[in-house]
Amino acid sequence: MSTLRFYALKQCFNRQPVEVEEFERRSQVFAKNVFNERAMRQYLTKDSYSSVMDAIQYGTKIKRRISDHISTGMKEWAISKGATHYTHWFQPLTGTSAEKHDAFFETISDGQAIEKFGGSSLVQQEPDASSFPSGGIRNTFEARGYTAWDPTSPAFILGTTLCIPTVFVSYTGESLDFKAPLLRSLHVLDKAATDVVKYFNKKVEKVNATLGWEQEYFLIDKALAASRPDITLTGRALLGHPPAKGQQLDDHYFGAIPSRILNYMRDLENECMLLGIPVKTRHNEVAPNQFELAPIFEEANLAVDHNLLLMDLMDKVADRHDLRVLFHEKPFASVNGSGKHNNWSLSTDAGTNLLSPGSTPMKNLQFLTFFVNTIKAVCDNEELLRASIATASNDHRLGANEAPPAIISVFIGSQLTKVLDELEKVTDGELSAQEKTDLKLNVVGKIPEILRDNTDRNRTSPFAFTGNKFEFRAVGSTANCANPMTVLNTIMAKQLQDFKAAVDKLIKKKKMKKDDAIFNVLRDYIKKSKKIRFEGDGYGEAWEKEAEKRGLSNNRNTPEALKIKIGEKAVKLYEEMGVMNRTEIEARHEIEVEAYAMHIQIEGRVLGDIARNHVIPTAIRYQNILIKNVKGLKEIYGEDFKTHASEQLTIIADISRHIEKINKGITDMIEERKKANKIENSEEKAFAYCNQVKPYFEGIRYHCDKLELLIDDELWPLTKFRELLFTN
Ligand code: ADP
Ligand code: MG
Repeated sequence: MSTLRFYALKQCFNRQPVEVEEFERRSQVFAKNVFNERAMRQYLTKDSYSSVMDAIQYGTKIKRRISDHISTGMKEWAISKGATHYTHWFQPLTGTSAEKHDAFFETISDGQAIEKFGGSSLVQQEPDASSFPSGGIRNTFEARGYTAWDPTSPAFILGTTLCIPTVFVSYTGESLDFKAPLLRSLHVLDKAATDVVKYFNKKVEKVNATLGWEQEYFLIDKALAASRPDITLTGRALLGHPPAKGQQLDDHYFGAIPSRILNYMRDLENECMLLGIPVKTRHNEVAPNQFELAPIFEEANLAVDHNLLLMDLMDKVADRHDLRVLFHEKPFASVNGSGKHNNWSLSTDAGTNLLSPGSTPMKNLQFLTFFVNTIKAVCDNEELLRASIATASNDHRLGANEAPPAIISVFIGSQLTKVLDELEKVTDGELSAQEKTDLKLNVVGKIPEILRDNTDRNRTSPFAFTGNKFEFRAVGSTANCANPMTVLNTIMAKQLQDFKAAVDKLIKKKKMKKDDAIFNVLRDYIKKSKKIRFEGDGYGEAWEKEAEKRGLSNNRNTPEALKIKIGEKAVKLYEEMGVMNRTEIEARHEIEVEAYAMHIQIEGRVLGDIARNHVIPTAIRYQNILIKNVKGLKEIYGEDFKTHASEQLTIIADISRHIEKINKGITDMIEERKKANKIENSEEKAFAYCNQVKPYFEGIRYHCDKLELLIDDELWPLTKFRELLFTN
């Protein structure tokens, strides 16, 4: 009998839901462990408080002297909450968060000790960061990197540690993390959007990007997960035959949440409350053991931090409940994968959502302006947007016929399509009074009504307008949202700058009225960005053909998708917008292609190991049982044995055939790996892994999965899909 699998199952069957204490009122504990405005008011002097608030709102620098006051206040607050340590919390390009804890505790003369946290420790630190990926930046310049405080994201307490959100940059100033470029993109977007908003409302001084992510994930029992080497090492099942029942009956989606899982969610939500993560919804997803969690949207930088923090919390809380979270985009073949929809919009300092129509024609024109500019930005930069979500694991999802395709398109619904069609007919040049009234009354003026009743939804679109925001649905569940958000903000900033220049030109050179100029430019944009709009079934083959005709990209794998990032167009855009320089861009590309190759390499090794050391020996063991049986039959029946043993003989032969195929697949795959490993250039290596190594996975898996169906269940060593997916 296969000991590990059955031992794990036994453990799983014996589990009880872990009790969770509920807060009396969640609103009362919300953000209790966050150094937010309320805490700052209490612990900081007036000067310090306003200087942090100015830094948050206007990006002003905090003076050295003031930072000493702030750090002291922060330390007192943290100690009052039981904190003993502090850390700069940052987001290196590994994809997770990083922290290195230092104690507040310090010794002074006479063997005495005090708690100390100076301004310099708050503002800047130099973690020994030589093992974080840098894409060569640190090798060629300086080995050191430093972290610098980001006052726009409040410090928080995790366990007994005060965590200070920071950017991570090299000694020469190049960013080595996800946060620095995100902050820069938010900054240029703020400037560009504020300039455009002023056409409609002179009072606006700041525009924030808002982000509301929806996190999908799988939860499986810890012991079951540990019984599978592939899940343990790669986060996904590299083999395993689909269970007889998967998600065909749609009985999991929005179904009752099992109590063990529900307690996990409650526990997690409580942790989120303390840390000010405004989680709001929880539900079952389509696949068995798949779930989703979504917060109320927030300013994008904070939302990104909160998502990263959440993923960390999810792992920690899962451990308490003897569960394991799978963030992988496609942990199980044959059932749905996981994404992380990024709902994105723009909001003014007065809280007006710029992608939401308003009560007056002017506000609706404002809505249209931002709406059409977003579509145009996506149209002109679809390939870069695709690249922003390219990873080895998301490749399993995009274009795999149950997730958005690798083709980027925008869905807006039939009603808004009609509005844009009308606007396309706007007169070239100055508009007559009649035309303007007509537009205001019958086209622009109707938008709020249209959107109120808008029930159009298209789950197959990678980038869909959903009434008052765009939903970037193609983002992978493992992603750090900063990556796609940085691209979206940057292309939108560039787009809005161009828009402003075009409108101003018409006003100045052609002496057009502001509204006329705006209508004229929007009309051009609507025409020019038509190819990106698609309302049909994004999963269908017909769309692939149509998209090709339209000249849209369809980069199905990561190395292919990433190429655009180092192309001249992208470099020019990033440099012009001040988001990243060439060194940073190239370093990131290097890191991403390297990560891709490593992922496939690890998967190849694990697959080879499981197939050779677990599957084949089991197959031989079972084959021996059959051989013994056949020999016995021969003993009893003599020459007549074949009539009685024909099935067994077929299975014996089948097993041999599958074993041979598996062995050959692995041998050939290893040969290809050896060749790929000799390639010096990281991009070429990634392509080799993609095109030469990865194609072996399917064949090896196919034959292993066939063996799973043939071999005695009692002998099979790998926990089966039905056990992974239907026990909790
Ligand atoms: P659905 O998309 O299922 O209709 P909601 O409209 O409630 O659900 O929103 C889904 C997600 O979109 C939530 O995470 C929410 O926070 C986010 N969201 C809603 N409005 C905005 C906005 N203006 N900016 C960014 N995200 C938003
Ligand atoms: Mg949604």
